[in-house]
Amino acid sequence: MTNPFSVLGHLECSRCSAVYDANELQGTCSCGSPLLARYDLGRVAGAVERAEITSRPPLLWRYHELLPVRSPEAVVTLGEGMTPLLPLRRLGGELGLPRLLMKDEGCLPTATFKARGAAVGVSRATELGAAGVAMPTNGNAGAAWAAFCARAGLPCLVAMPEDAPLITRAECLAVGAELEIVAGLIGDAAVVVSRALAGRPGWLDVSTLREPYRLEGKKTIGLEIAEQLGWRVPDVILCPVGGGVGLIGIWKALGELAALGWIGPEMPRLVAVQAAGCAPVVQAFATGAESTSPWPDAATVAFGLTVPAPLGGPLILRALRATGGTAVAVTDTELLDAEVRLARCEGSWACPEGAACIAAAAQLREAGWLSGQDQVVVLNTGAGLKYPDNVTT
Ligand SMILES: *Cc1c(COP(=O)(O)O)cnc(C)c1O
Repeated sequence: MTNPFSVLGHLECSRCSAVYDANELQGTCSCGSPLLARYDLGRVAGAVERAEITSRPPLLWRYHELLPVRSPEAVVTLGEGMTPLLPLRRLGGELGLPRLLMKDEGCLPTATFKARGAAVGVSRATELGAAGVAMPTNGNAGAAWAAFCARAGLPCLVAMPEDAPLITRAECLAVGAELEIVAGLIGDAAVVVSRALAGRPGWLDVSTLREPYRLEGKKTIGLEIAEQLGWRVPDVILCPVGGGVGLIGIWKALGELAALGWIGPEMPRLVAVQAAGCAPVVQAFATGAESTSPWPDAATVAFGLTVPAPLGGPLILRALRATGGTAVAVTDTELLDAEVRLARCEGSWACPEGAACIAAAAQLREAGWLSGQDQVVVLNTGAGLKYPDNVTT
């Protein structure tokens, strides 16, 4: 028998463990919780070794056995993956974190890490025969899905709040997506999407964690970090959290690598970084709650973090607690200052969401939660170029 391109097995509810067929289009579990892709990891051992992975082209598709797309012909790609893991020597020195690293997602297609979820999500939706996809977004996810849908020839409806960065509207329109601008926040955009979907048979709702495969794309951040460190994990990973797909994906990836024996059982402490103007995860973590409560009047310049009621709240909180991590809120002033400081120190202009992780790392070092010995990875989720108005000219 030839080696499988993917060892995808079934889908499993993240809350009640109900099992679903992965060979059909699926949304959430009937209990309302996200479904997670489960793999037949035993078959990986016979099919591929770490050294072979490392010899493959520098794309996220190098991990195809651990991704859900069954056939190589179904892969829709714009060349995404293998982003740099940069040592931040000067800034790290200033912060008392000499082993500070930044995973820089700004160089992905559409300039944010949303490209990872879109590449895998669009590929799998096409493979399973979706007629089109629709999603609410704070901007960047819509821009990424619109681009990959254009590449796949798949119709795409994007609904975004009127306050979302203007560049993301232009990105959707440039590639020919259908765009709805909505008064209010991402939850209001979600209402527009579900109304539209009611009249579009065969279309798939690709809202955050309402289908299982966007998470699989985001998971590759964790796979890359482990591979780039020589198949080991750092002590701590700081991740900006809106819907939480990035953080949950990293946790899932490292769990799968540990189950394969490709890394040891130790997990990095995972840190969720939010903006003080929308911090439902920080609040729930602090109070010991198992799910988040909707955040009233959410507002921050880090627009990708404006998710007042993330569906993945319980999964995010589980990831933080299982790894001995924590959750931190930073103010808009702090994250904008960090954006400038990082750019001046290292020549890397990060998005405000990514810069929030630098501000959080500084806070945690001062509080003694991080030590000078810790190897710390911050995730910069996108390019500063997408938010040009953050620098006064
Ligand atoms: C979407 C987004 C985030 C938040 O990511 P989640 O996976 O939703 O937590 C962070 N930064 C940027 C630039 C984003 O577009």
